[in-house]
Amino acid sequence: MRLIFMGPPGAGKGTQAKFVAEHFGVPAISTGDIFRANVTQGTELGIEAKRYMDAGEYVPDEVTNRMVRNRIDEPDAAGGFLLDGYPRTVAQVEELDGMIAFTGHRLDAVILLTADSDELVKRLLARAQTEGRADDTEDVIRRRQEVYLEQTAPLIDVYRDRGLLVEVDGLGEVDEVTKRIFTALAPVQES
Ligand code: AMP
Repeated sequence: MRLIFMGPPGAGKGTQAKFVAEHFGVPAISTGDIFRANVTQGTELGIEAKRYMDAGEYVPDEVTNRMVRNRIDEPDAAGGFLLDGYPRTVAQVEELDGMIAFTGHRLDAVILLTADSDELVKRLLARAQTEGRADDTEDVIRRRQEVYLEQTAPLIDVYRDRGLLVEVDGLGEVDEVTKRIFTALAPVQES
């Protein structure tokens, strides 16, 4: 399976991505997690990415694309993968298309977790208190929502037009949402 998880910041992508990836036996590749790991380790990539992350902006496509290409080339991703938080721009969609075409495979589905944006800001502020992420202050949260609307929301139509979009209501208990995702993916698995 080659899957993409999309949705506004705070929709619960990371949590659900891990369950779904485990179910299909593929790695969950989260660009946000890879950037954060690099920030913690103080790598050159981490130092560059941090500037953007702390401001709620996207890390430049060139940097992000190179990182994903390297990750997808690793042996554990040869049989499939679940991308969480990538692609997020039109340029990243094109780059990913190239990467997948090169291996002779295709994308199976794009799961869009939907949620009300006021509810999401509330959730993110609560997460800021428990996890203490540097990009979880109210201003940065609002900026991340804006950037999502400007740069990532347009990808929804791109994937809908390709017949790949699977929309799932992301509000509710975690296991309820997981069930919805598996129900929505059943036709994809059969095809
Ligand atoms: P996330 O954990 O997915 O919300 O990502 C945290 C931050 O990492 C984002 O706000 C961006 O600054 C950066 N980031 C993650 N994925 C991407 C991407 N595909 N393109 C650009 N920046 C990204």
